[in-house]
Amino acid sequence: CGVFGAVGLTDAANFVALGLHALQHRGQEAGGIVSYEAETGFNSARRFGYVRDNFTNASLMQTLPGSLSIGHVRYSTAGSKGAAIRDVQPFFGEFSMGGAAIAHNGNITNAEALRRELIERGSIFQSSSDSECIIHLMARSLQRDIPARMEDALRRVEGAFSVVAMTRTKLIGVRDPLGVRPLVLGRLGDGWVLSSETCALDIIGAEFIREIEPGEMVVITAENGVESQRPFRPQRSRFCVFEHVYFSRPDSIIGGRSVYETRRQIGVELAREAPVDADIVCPVPDSGTPAAIGYSQESGIPYAMGIVRNQYMGRTFIEPTEQIRNMGVRLKLNVNRALIRGKKVILVDDSVVRGTTSRKIKDMILDAGAAEVHFRIASPPTAWPCFYGVDTPQRDKLLAANMSEEEMRDHLGVDSLKFVTLDGLYRAVGEAEGRNNACPQYCDACFSGEYPVEPADQIEKGFRM
Ligand code: 5GP
Ligand code: SF4
Ligand code: MG
Repeated sequence: CGVFGAVGLTDAANFVALGLHALQHRGQEAGGIVSYEAETGFNSARRFGYVRDNFTNASLMQTLPGSLSIGHVRYSTAGSKGAAIRDVQPFFGEFSMGGAAIAHNGNITNAEALRRELIERGSIFQSSSDSECIIHLMARSLQRDIPARMEDALRRVEGAFSVVAMTRTKLIGVRDPLGVRPLVLGRLGDGWVLSSETCALDIIGAEFIREIEPGEMVVITAENGVESQRPFRPQRSRFCVFEHVYFSRPDSIIGGRSVYETRRQIGVELAREAPVDADIVCPVPDSGTPAAIGYSQESGIPYAMGIVRNQYMGRTFIEPTEQIRNMGVRLKLNVNRALIRGKKVILVDDSVVRGTTSRKIKDMILDAGAAEVHFRIASPPTAWPCFYGVDTPQRDKLLAANMSEEEMRDHLGVDSLKFVTLDGLYRAVGEAEGRNNACPQYCDACFSGEYPVEPADQIEKGFRM
């Protein structure tokens, strides 16, 4: 998911809509915006579909007045599948000291246990979302102001959360102690903004100030600016390495590093680790493009657009059902036949998850008359599900959880298949010595099976690490 918030800006909801549009790659199912203005109080709009199809409508935007606003773009992760408008964020709660709205990116790993406990004590849930727990925990807190209630609530929550919230006067941003999901602070004129990624600061012309740090809470008002708090016990950060590989936009900056440059560098590592004789290097667009550029530059094999993407389709994996995903490949990608015929082709993609996309792409390339197909993958084999907000399927659906590399090569029907090593990936994100196995610098659980936060709900349901 993607979150964005703005304070101290006239018609803040318009900036939030633009920010969410730039974060659309993080969630395409639905979006929502809440704003506050003294006269009409809190207002909200939640819609299915793209930001640009909903939050560009002038009469809708007029219903979201005020200089303080937050928003969310959603894609559903493990648990609640399918569409219900009541699951669309931001969520709103009315407390004795006033209302608050929250938008959450990440996944709460003890949400089911918390929900059971809260329902037993009288909470009435409106949605099936893990994020709604935060509102109910806030309602039960005895603290006298909303930021303190949020602290109370978030101390009970486990897993990954980057939260943007608002009261009548304050914009609040919090990152979980491991800082699994991103959150950045920007400045625009006299106002402030919070965003999942820096690409959404660029779209509104805001200046990037800094990242919210893991375990940090910022409370921002138009009058007093940014106040920083540390509500959690300090821990070593474990940012999601897959944000660098796939999830974030290549024009975003994370930890002072260009996401594009990191991806290009993964391609360089791949070319060093897994060279192969071929005529052209082609990305599976768009997610494989920067790594393919790096592979080509390092190997000296020419880069070419062997697959062309229809720009009017979204990210296939974010489509929630398997059936739509299966159709998606041909609707979205087509082989450039004239280029591929008779060539030995290196195909570079960011990841192999279920293997369904990869197989279809290989079929299309062979249909077009390629002499050889070599797959190079810009992440290690995805052998474990993510429980922190990226929608990887259960282990039985993950190709790498059930097959050796040679079996995967055979299953995909390609001449060779190589994945970047974990150390190669760590070098590409700037860790010259590779992965520190005693104390990994990132979350890489989907590749390593080492979960930095025990996924309590999953373990209760029989998941074995
Ligand atoms: P596959 O071959 O595993 O079906 O799909 C791999 C391609 O689709 C990659 O280009 C990747 O960007 C995307 N993809 C498909 N499904 C998923 C998924 O569940 N999670 C992630 N992270 N990427 C996926
Ligand atoms: Fe990111 Fe993978 Fe960790 Fe999930 S399990 S937070 S996708 S690195
Ligand atoms: Mg892809």
